[in-house]
Amino acid sequence: MKTKTCYTPLAMRLTKIVCTIGPACRSAQTLKALCDAGMTVARLNLSHGTQDDCKTIIEDIRKINQDYGYAVAIMFDTKGAEIRTGVVQYPIEITKGQEVVFSPHPLDNEERTVITVNYDRFYADVPETDRILIDNGEMALDIVDIRADGSVVARSQDDGSIGSRRHINLPGADIDLPSITEKDWEDIAFTCEQKADFVALSFIRNAGEVQSVRTFLEERGSPMQIITKVETRQAVENIAEIIDVSDAIMVARGDLGADLPFEELPIIQDDIVLRCRDRGTPVIVATHMLESMTEHPMPTRAEVTDVAYAVMTGADATMLSGETASGKFPIRAVEAMARIQQRTEEHIARFSRRAEPVHDEREGRSEAAVSLAQASKAVAIVAFTKTGRTVLEISKFRPSLPIIACTNTPERQRSLQLAYGVLPLCVPFADPETTVQNGFSCAKERGFLHDGDSVVILSDIPISDSGFAPSVQVRTL
Ligand code: PEP
Repeated sequence: MKTKTCYTPLAMRLTKIVCTIGPACRSAQTLKALCDAGMTVARLNLSHGTQDDCKTIIEDIRKINQDYGYAVAIMFDTKGAEIRTGVVQYPIEITKGQEVVFSPHPLDNEERTVITVNYDRFYADVPETDRILIDNGEMALDIVDIRADGSVVARSQDDGSIGSRRHINLPGADIDLPSITEKDWEDIAFTCEQKADFVALSFIRNAGEVQSVRTFLEERGSPMQIITKVETRQAVENIAEIIDVSDAIMVARGDLGADLPFEELPIIQDDIVLRCRDRGTPVIVATHMLESMTEHPMPTRAEVTDVAYAVMTGADATMLSGETASGKFPIRAVEAMARIQQRTEEHIARFSRRAEPVHDEREGRSEAAVSLAQASKAVAIVAFTKTGRTVLEISKFRPSLPIIACTNTPERQRSLQLAYGVLPLCVPFADPETTVQNGFSCAKERGFLHDGDSVVILSDIPISDSGFAPSVQVRTL
């Protein structure tokens, strides 16, 4: 029996999906299926893949973009200053209550099990915490002793096993490593060469670190956008300045939930999403969104609600990590995320928009375009932009209808793939009216608009021999 809906379905999904690429979705065929299912940004994790792996993935995605008219953007995610366990032949089994020794070097004459770590000054940072977490809390160990030889004794709270290169957190400790390591600088240079669209910076602690990457990119003439991952206590403390200097933000809940008490996470997530919306800075909610789908074909009900909550609070994008990189159901995970997003967007479209602060004349114009579009029952807002700024300003007001962003370069087109509601196109720019007509033709070809549709446009109009003025108009195609 067909159920009667009591809402107005939106023609298009507005929240974006970032997918992490890994062995489970690496083939060109699966990458294409991820694009069909709704991926707008492909995330390549430099903690795992080699530069050569990354090159072939980029080639495949660019070919799919070219062959099928997608504009999927590429995001590289740096490794950052991570502490990891050393390499072991087999995972080391640990029982609850067992004492183990963490040391930067193998220890002769040690009766207890030794876990090596990749960080010489581990012992120096340990006094700032009372626990060691393995793999974001899969195992927790209480610190018992810090010894003169630089090793640390800890007692396991759980049964478990520790394999090679497992991620270690010292909750709340200020790690004495530079956030951006030598490997990261090499990787960032590589991402510039590869002309990636976004670089996501791991374990950032303050705005100065983001600025140093900005300077590095400027020196290389790279237009790549910087996404700051918020995953440390210090980043949360410096969040206002970090948002000011970042192109986008990722709420990286895995490490963040290990560095801070996990009950703080929902509050921090909300705070960051609201701050980003206020600034018009795209924000991604990441990690464990559909985690159970790494093993199962259906998400848990709590996961469904988590994705819906991110959409309801106005995140621009939600991210899949292990679900697509190494899970058993990568395509179904994207389809599930898309279904939850779209259904939630339909739900929130029934309510009046939240009143966003309007900071200046430009934002006032964007706000007016959104109000006009909703009042005139337009099917979309069409904006013309060289820098992308106008489009982010419109997106900030979270209209319940798509924003068709006409840009004049494929790079700018892809750079808008994280922003809520934005369907970016690349169209030839000429005089204002020809550009508007080029935008309409391209949007019709892509099936975004049809003859007879009413739209609101933001474009320049000539006002005298010497200049143009920005205008907001209702047009019918
Ligand atoms: C996270 O910690 O939530 C995260 C996204 O970072 P990574 O997956 O790189 O550890």
